[in-house]
Amino acid sequence: MVLDDLGTSLRGTLEDLRGKSRLTEDDVEAVVKEIQRSLLQADVDVSLVMELSDSIKTRALEEEPPGGTTARDHVLRIVYEELVALVGDSTELPLEEQTIMLAGLQGSGKTTTAAKMAWWFSKKGLRPAVIQTDTFRPGAYDQAKQMCERAEVEFYGDPDAEDPVEIARRGMEETADADVHIVDTAGRHALEDELIEEIEEIGDVVEPDRSLLVLDAAIGQGAKEQARRFEESIGIQGVTITKLDGTAKGGGALTAVNETDSTIAFLGTGEEVEDIERFEPNGFISRLLGMGDLKQLTERVERAMAETGDEEEDWDPEDMLSGEFTLHDMRKQMNAMNRMGPLDQIMDMIPGMGGGLMDQLPDDAMDVTQDRMQRFEFVMDSMTDAELEHPRAIGQSQIERIARGSGTDEETVRELLQQHKMMERTLKQFQGMGQGNMDMERMM
Ligand code: GDP
Repeated sequence: MVLDDLGTSLRGTLEDLRGKSRLTEDDVEAVVKEIQRSLLQADVDVSLVMELSDSIKTRALEEEPPGGTTARDHVLRIVYEELVALVGDSTELPLEEQTIMLAGLQGSGKTTTAAKMAWWFSKKGLRPAVIQTDTFRPGAYDQAKQMCERAEVEFYGDPDAEDPVEIARRGMEETADADVHIVDTAGRHALEDELIEEIEEIGDVVEPDRSLLVLDAAIGQGAKEQARRFEESIGIQGVTITKLDGTAKGGGALTAVNETDSTIAFLGTGEEVEDIERFEPNGFISRLLGMGDLKQLTERVERAMAETGDEEEDWDPEDMLSGEFTLHDMRKQMNAMNRMGPLDQIMDMIPGMGGGLMDQLPDDAMDVTQDRMQRFEFVMDSMTDAELEHPRAIGQSQIERIARGSGTDEETVRELLQQHKMMERTLKQFQGMGQGNMDMERMM
């Protein structure tokens, strides 16, 4: 995730301020240094970093902390606000009929993003269609088609046609019934005039309501130039930053956004169609600082619940952090989690759990892969209610009975019990850690 270690390093520095009621210049200097180091490492433009540090310094020393706030909370709030200002607002994206054109270099993630965005709009109740005009990259057609099938959204492309402008024209006609048209365009290895001309012509045909630039998070300073060229030719209303799952950078993209007075629309966090998030500055920065992003989490849970039906009725992720953890709970969570996405992403969204805590877990502590889950399902089906409530009381004779009844083996039953113990222990551990961050949350 972008600026990954900012939260971790900053937390350490902020810890040193605990108990202080006034900030000295040295205190502020130490905090600002940490921020500078993280931002520069993540490829954020130097002048932007300097600007940010100056305003944090000035505000932290000149502003009077509101009564009752500690020095630490005061500086944390300022850092939070300044970082939110740095990343800017989220691109406005009304849920209505519209045409969106995607621009960017080859490999930036346009085709993937087109399908992901279509998936996102379909989850919001709209009817999207993806129009694939990339005749330059072999394989773009098949890739787009497959992803759209997975996303269960309409797709138009023509592997035999050669003129992207003509494909765009026909695509708009063929998908006239759709509410949201997402037009994927060809990229090139570099910014060539030909690429710019082509995208301008496609733009003339599809008349986009907004054009989004797709940028790879790892791109670095080159992002600025790209953003400027596309901005000059077609006008960029928003940026989608992709591959945030694979890099600790992303600063180049942030700089490009800032440079062109643009905003961020979406973040791409994986290769699957559902690995997309609407950019929310507040949530994004809270997560970065390890304060959790309950809004995103809630959205994911709601989506998972809607897809699971009512059997999982009231599973609240925060329940995980309190009270008894039974096999009933484990089953609900495994089901819901499988629909929510990778656990490490979810953990990052729970207050107090971000900042690499997942790295401290044994690899299989939360292994809830489909296959394993299926076998566990069979096992749990063969358990009595009492056994599900009190798994620790299950003895050898019960294990034998459950294994027989479920058509699995004793090994699988023991594995399930082991897994439960491990999850229970891990969650207990998190309960303790979660408390430590409660004050950060309250402050927000
Ligand atoms: P295009 O040439 O701009 O259309 O780029 P593609 O959509 O083909 O993406 C290039 C590669 O990046 C593909 O292998 C994608 O699977 C991968 N990719 C795209 N977005 C993401 C993302 O958010 N995370 C990860 N890990 N990979 C991505």
